[in-house]
Amino acid sequence: MKGNKENRSDNVPESLEGKSLEELWELLLGKEDLEERKAKYEARKLKPDYREDAMNILECPMCGCDDVPNELLTIPVNMKGIVSVNVLGAKCSNPECLEEYYNSEDTEVIRQLKELIKQQALIGRIKPMHLQSEEYQKSSAEATRDDDENG
Ligand SMILES: [Zn+2]
Repeated sequence: MKGNKENRSDNVPESLEGKSLEELWELLLGKEDLEERKAKYEARKLKPDYREDAMNILECPMCGCDDVPNELLTIPVNMKGIVSVNVLGAKCSNPECLEEYYNSEDTEVIRQLKELIKQQALIGRIKPMHLQSEEYQKSSAEATRDDDENG
C-alpha cells in the first residue's frame, strides 16, 4: 500500500538502516547505559565465579542486586530413583532475595526427560495380543462364545 510505504519512510530514516550491532545496542540502551553495561560486564568477568558457559547475570532482575554468582543449583526430578539433578545456574546473594536462576534449556531438557519416562511407562503396559498369556486368550475366547450364545 502506498500510504503505508510513505509512513514507513517517514518514521524510519534511511540513516538507521545497515547499522552495526554496537550501534544497535547504543540505540536500544542509550550511549550512557551501554557504557555502564559494558563496565558492569567487564567487572563481572573479574569475579571468581565467572565462567564463559555460565549465566553471568549482571544484575538480579528481582531486586537489582549486582552480585548474582553462578552456582550449582539442585532441581528435584524424582525420576527412576534419582531425586534431583545439579545444573549450573545463578543465585542472588542478597539475603532478602536469594532468587535462583535456571537456564531454561536445562529445565526444558528435564521436562522432556520426564515426558519420555512417562511415555515409556505407558509403552510397558501395552502388550500385543499375540504375546498375551494363553489363559487370557482362552478366557476371552470363551467370553466371545458366551456372547454368541446369548445373542
Ligand atoms: Zn535478588
